[in-house]
Amino acid sequence: MSKKRVVIAGMGFGGLRAAKALAGSGFELLLVDRNNYHLFQPLLYQVATAGLEEEEIAYPLRGLVRGWKDTTFLLAEIIGINVADRTIRTDSEVISYDYLIIAAGSRTNYFGMDSVAKNAFDLKRLDQAEDLRNQILFMFERAERESDVRRREALLTFVIVGGGPTGVEFAGALRELIVYVLSKDHPTIASSETRIIIVEAANSLLTAMPDDLREYARLKLISMGVEVMLESKVIGATEESVQLFGGTTIGTHTLLWSAGVAAADLAGAIPGIERGGAGRIVVQPDLTIPGHPNVMVIGDMACCLTNGAPLPMMAPVASQQGEYAAQSIVARERGASLPAFRYRDKGAMATIGKSSAVAVTGGFKFRGYIAWLAWLLLHLFYLVGFRNRVVVMMNWTYAYWFQERQVRIITSKNRRSVRS
Ligand SMILES: Cc1cc2nc3c(=O)[nH]c(=O)nc-3n(C[C@H](O)[C@H](O)[C@H](O)COP(=O)(O)OP(=O)(O)OC[C@H]3O[C@@H](n4cnc5c(N)ncnc54)[C@H](O)[C@@H]3O)c2cc1C
Repeated sequence: MSKKRVVIAGMGFGGLRAAKALAGSGFELLLVDRNNYHLFQPLLYQVATAGLEEEEIAYPLRGLVRGWKDTTFLLAEIIGINVADRTIRTDSEVISYDYLIIAAGSRTNYFGMDSVAKNAFDLKRLDQAEDLRNQILFMFERAERESDVRRREALLTFVIVGGGPTGVEFAGALRELIVYVLSKDHPTIASSETRIIIVEAANSLLTAMPDDLREYARLKLISMGVEVMLESKVIGATEESVQLFGGTTIGTHTLLWSAGVAAADLAGAIPGIERGGAGRIVVQPDLTIPGHPNVMVIGDMACCLTNGAPLPMMAPVASQQGEYAAQSIVARERGASLPAFRYRDKGAMATIGKSSAVAVTGGFKFRGYIAWLAWLLLHLFYLVGFRNRVVVMMNWTYAYWFQERQVRIITSKNRRSVRS
């Protein structure tokens, strides 16, 4: 008898975990992704701030699945899913499945602000992190030659929209890059001439954290020289400025948008399914699509309600759902079923700068050096690939002792289209 085929659409945190759990358990496993690597998105900001190289936070998928029983990887863009006739359509072929796990993640959400979408930088993909690094380094080169005071000021102003973990981590890392490295590379530019501004619509940074940790993060950033604008909304942007609600305009050539995500475009290419907030696919408590028990949606794409609210778009949610989806398929083949998916919240953390982070886990709160050390160890632990772990650890150790950032390479001076 031929084996049943499980297709996993997307090999991020959720897809990879599901694949690991299913490999060798009696199925034919087909893993599909438009990239030939698994990307560790939480460290993208370190690529953008010249701390790590691209390859260090990505791992080739073929290398990962090599040796896994009955497992094949297909490099392809999935452009449609037909749950009625159990097929997925890629840019090269149509593939049938017995079980499907949809794990295509998310895209940046500009909430319909076209001018911001056109002019902002984005931090979801590896090439986008590289673009942003090029931009930062190139702005310093241009500022050096600029004699007009206002134009020079705009070149040296970096605006980050969104005070969540990505905005906070990027702001802190950029400040350190400027103070420790770029101001030395460019002796004519004092670090005090540069501005890093976080614009956040809520009344605090890191809204998922307890009050005292939010305040710690805000004060720490300010002490490092980052400006924090709370209860401020961006309403538009040009290549050289950003406009805030209320009439303020800030001159800048570098605007990073980290203020919202929505389900990946693929969610819109599955006819007949219900979508919730941010376009996420509404799933039942067992992560299946209503009426289609052989299709499960996990991670950022899934709108999985828990106590009336959707689970956050975070790596641990995706990973735990990936594990659950795999176990559920195995159980179903044995004629059994699993209880509803339950997310085990292990906490949250964000690093602010050298020896400084905030973390909350199991009712305990940490900040400063201890939280920073925990952040470091956890990220090393979850990074895929032994070599990546070793190289990242060496890079971090080097940066810690010598306050250097090695990856100061401008690979392109032309701003590419970075929209997903
Ligand atoms: C800059 C940044 C920082 C973050 N920091 C943290 C953090 O500190 N902690 C935390 O918990 N979470 C963090 N997150 C969120 C976390 O990365 C996501 O929640 C997690 O990656 C979701 O996993 P997923 O499996 O749903 O999707 P992803 O990991 O995004 O994987 C989706 C996969 O699907 C593939 N794909 C998408 N569309 C298609 C298609 N049409 N065809 C083929 N393949 C496709 C993609 O190439 C990708 O490999 C961060 C995210 C970003 C962008």
